[in-house]
Amino acid sequence: MPSTSTPLVMKVHTSNYAVQGFTAAVDEATLAGIAHARGVPLATDLGSGSLVDLAHYGLPREPLPQEMLAAGCDVVTFSGDKLLGGPQAGLIVGSKAAVGRIRKFPMKRALRMSKLPLAALEATLSLYLRPERLAQDLPTLRLLTRPAEAIREMAEALRAPVQTAVSPRFTVEVVPLLGQIGSGSLPAERLPSAGLALAPAGTSKKGLGTALDALGAALRGLPLPVIGRIAEDRLLLDLRCLEDSTGFVAQLPLLRERLQ
Ligand SMILES: *Cc1c(COP(=O)(O)O)cnc(C)c1O
Repeated sequence: MPSTSTPLVMKVHTSNYAVQGFTAAVDEATLAGIAHARGVPLATDLGSGSLVDLAHYGLPREPLPQEMLAAGCDVVTFSGDKLLGGPQAGLIVGSKAAVGRIRKFPMKRALRMSKLPLAALEATLSLYLRPERLAQDLPTLRLLTRPAEAIREMAEALRAPVQTAVSPRFTVEVVPLLGQIGSGSLPAERLPSAGLALAPAGTSKKGLGTALDALGAALRGLPLPVIGRIAEDRLLLDLRCLEDSTGFVAQLPLLRERLQ
């Protein structure tokens, strides 16, 4: 129970983990009632804090900062670079009184944003003024809402050129994949995706790791580094975030050369 010596009640979103089983969380509206009855302000740190309801886009829902303010939070903090889709930044919104106190705190000057990230943040936020175009214009949302079928079609189109580049040491298959949104958002959710699985051909069980490491290093060493992940003795390339497939294919001759 907060007493008068309690300066703040703070709730922090469980961004990177999920607590499952017989657990419960107290919502912000209830916490606000408890805190305000004792004259204590309430802050909530949302971590990701999407500004739009992701359920509209068929994605799992995250709490919105505007809802948290309506629920009675005095301060709401969230990231500029997670679901918001902008530059590395931390955003603080809240009541004039609470934000005013934060502004006056000496650390504020040390932690303030510089001009270039501020310009990037403004450009990102201005995209939200045209919500009907957001899913096309905001790269984060565009990539998260990309249908698995469209990703699969890209994988089908890339399979043969990639096979040519990695033959005869690896075989290439189109596979369905499950991707994580990551960076502290929606930890328990997986989005259906698709990609390419590259498996060492004719390698003994012992040589698999070495072959996959060499392939991973060759991909990372391309002028435009390609980062895959290794699972079940295969190197997986999830294509959800590949938009420039022409640029990817243009690098394949170099990959072929380096694998010889
Ligand atoms: C990511 C995260 C932060 C830090 O946010 P950044 O502004 O991106 O550094 C703080 N709190 C929680 C709960 C987070 O998930």
